[in-house]
Amino acid sequence: MLIAAHMSGLIDASEATRGLDYRCPACQQPVVLHHRSQIPPYFAHHPQTPCHLAGEGETRQHLLGKRQLATFFSDWGPVTLERILPAIQQRADGWLDLPHPIALEFQCSPTSRAAVAQRTAGYQRLGCYPFWLLGSRYAQQKLNWRLIERFACWLTGWDLCLLFWEVDRRRLRVAHHLRQTATGTYVSETAWVISLSELVAGSTQFKTVVQNPGQKQYRAYLNQALRRATPALRPIQEALYLTGHQVTGFPDCLMATTSTAPIFGQGLILWRIILTAWIEEQADMTFVQLAEMSQRALSVVNGQTTAVRFDGQPVFRREQRKLLTILTQAGILSSTVQGWQVHGHLKWARDYTDWLENDEKNGR
Ligand SMILES: [Zn+2]
Repeated sequence: MLIAAHMSGLIDASEATRGLDYRCPACQQPVVLHHRSQIPPYFAHHPQTPCHLAGEGETRQHLLGKRQLATFFSDWGPVTLERILPAIQQRADGWLDLPHPIALEFQCSPTSRAAVAQRTAGYQRLGCYPFWLLGSRYAQQKLNWRLIERFACWLTGWDLCLLFWEVDRRRLRVAHHLRQTATGTYVSETAWVISLSELVAGSTQFKTVVQNPGQKQYRAYLNQALRRATPALRPIQEALYLTGHQVTGFPDCLMATTSTAPIFGQGLILWRIILTAWIEEQADMTFVQLAEMSQRALSVVNGQTTAVRFDGQPVFRREQRKLLTILTQAGILSSTVQGWQVHGHLKWARDYTDWLENDEKNGR
């Protein structure tokens, strides 16, 4: 920690001298000033007296980053380092005392979804907006759902985004317009921001060209994954097997080349395939039954609509409506007062080879 209690006030580690009585402002236990050559000075608890408001272990990155972030955000007002919040039993790395307060969390060490959710909920109880700024450990990761579900948030001008603080270059990397291709790849745009006004301004150059594979390419990919018995595809193939279908033979009209919010796990198309196969097994279904089936299909493809900081349900419902429109236009579905009536099934190919033969026959 950078701030300790001393006499009747607080003292910054950079201004402290060794050997005096310093205490943790949260638990009032004695803390020791550490002064090493590679790491800026900081206070630490004795290992025998752990703190109930322990933050993450202090590293050079975390210590430097906290101060840099305090400077970065100071255009909005004075930033208090390591603000103790007794009401929610949390210590914010940085705190801006605004009408709508802002908390800064510089996350360098691993943390669970539950911990992020708990801290975020705590800040929300105080009417405070938390910024989660991620350290190098997270910056090195390829975009993935675990990262997105814990830390992604909506910011004006950036859409759904992740914020990475680069200590060595004192700048913010914004991975913005986070999306997912219809085949399941997570994509984003990148911008580097060196001032708060740039962050507020939003992205200036934004051109999302999401590369979605074509239909033939995607089927070939699925075919190869099946042959290799890729574990991720197993639950999907198992679900389809019971309906007499193979994933590579999915009906043409289920193909999509759009991108969506990143909630579809292994991809929008696979979700469409499973849900359609299940719908075709029904004679009719209520709206509730359909919604449940749709949700189950989402879990088969490892999709999730709830994240700590955003709700994917609206997007999910929109995609569900789109699919129902496709199936209605294809003539296998019509709406009734209570739900939906099913009139048959779409044309599925037996497998990839069968689809290729038909494809050639039809001269596509
Ligand atoms: Zn303490």
